[in-house]
Amino acid sequence: PLVLGIESSCDETGVALVRGNDLLFDAVASSMEEHARFGGIIPEVASRAHLEAMIPTIERALGEADVDLTEVDAIAVTAGPGLVGPLTIGASAAKALSIGLNKPLYGVNHVIGHACVDQLVDGEFPDRVMALVVSGGHSSLLLVDDVATDVTELGSTLDDAAGEAFDKVGRLLGLPYPGGPHVDRLAREGDPTAIRFPRGLTAPKDQERHAHNFSFSGLKTAVARWIEARTDAGQAIPVEDVCASFAESVADVLTAKTIAACRRHDVDTLVIGGGFSANSQLREMAAKRCAEAGIELRIPPIRYCTDNGAMIAALGSAVVRAGVAPSTLDIPVDSSMPLETITV
Ligand code: ATP
Ligand code: MG
Ligand code: FE
Repeated sequence: PLVLGIESSCDETGVALVRGNDLLFDAVASSMEEHARFGGIIPEVASRAHLEAMIPTIERALGEADVDLTEVDAIAVTAGPGLVGPLTIGASAAKALSIGLNKPLYGVNHVIGHACVDQLVDGEFPDRVMALVVSGGHSSLLLVDDVATDVTELGSTLDDAAGEAFDKVGRLLGLPYPGGPHVDRLAREGDPTAIRFPRGLTAPKDQERHAHNFSFSGLKTAVARWIEARTDAGQAIPVEDVCASFAESVADVLTAKTIAACRRHDVDTLVIGGGFSANSQLREMAAKRCAEAGIELRIPPIRYCTDNGAMIAALGSAVVRAGVAPSTLDIPVDSSMPLETITV
């Protein structure tokens, strides 16, 4: 079946066409630049941008894929989690297509889509995979027994997401928004062992209850304090070393906990998705530690890690193939959709 996927949970309007695990075309329009001047995403601005971009993006995807709307067998759309206004724009477009074409509609989970998109690149998942989804809004560890029907949330961040922590450290250092990629770039020039920043939720007392949870806000505060103390003492800030030591802490915690989870659950394939998987420190450490642990590491190319329509079409395709019942036309969008809810 040919599935048209629509993504609009945050600041990217994405539309893609997928058949099986084959991506026909993936069109993305981003309003990120409009948000840069505010230093963060303004939901109302994002909603208006989705409204303007939705129909042109659908038309572009169909045109580039050389597909006629009547050939589409099913529509998949992000039902959550995300910003309610932006989600509603995508859901409305998807409902209109579903009614107009008389084709089934599937409201799917954005975070699971971040993992599922890997199937378009690296092929169908084996029986059981571990998925680490890291982005500006999420840092979650998911045990995926069947991406269409059976996902268990092992843990998530208790406070900031990894990308969010990078952005906040970027702001502390006066770097442009979003700070993540800038901190990454500077970190590559610094010494990761220069400063020993804390590793959140890795103390022995956290080992059981928070074995699979993350926390990055204490780390961000530690970086702020360190910079403050230096500044108060009239000393210069070694920006590259701060970035490298901070990035080292995030990558260390993410990879150590994820690999421990793989061992604990006897999983030998790890998928990393979400916009933060662009991070070089995470990629390097994950590659090294997975190789040592005999775990196959799957990370899709960066353009499929940030928000896009392909991830939603991929999950829609998996769900259709699994024979999951379609959503009703009143699919509720849910800003805090639980990570174990694959379809609504
Ligand atoms: P979500 O997908 O959870 O709704 P989002 O749309 O904000 O959130 P993405 O677009 O997937 O998230 O990822 C963007 C985040 O990743 C930002 O916080 C950004 O700073 C961060 N990021 C992107 N590239 C890098 C990098 N190379 N190093 C560190 N952080 C990065
Ligand atoms: Mg984004
Ligand atoms: Fe996302």
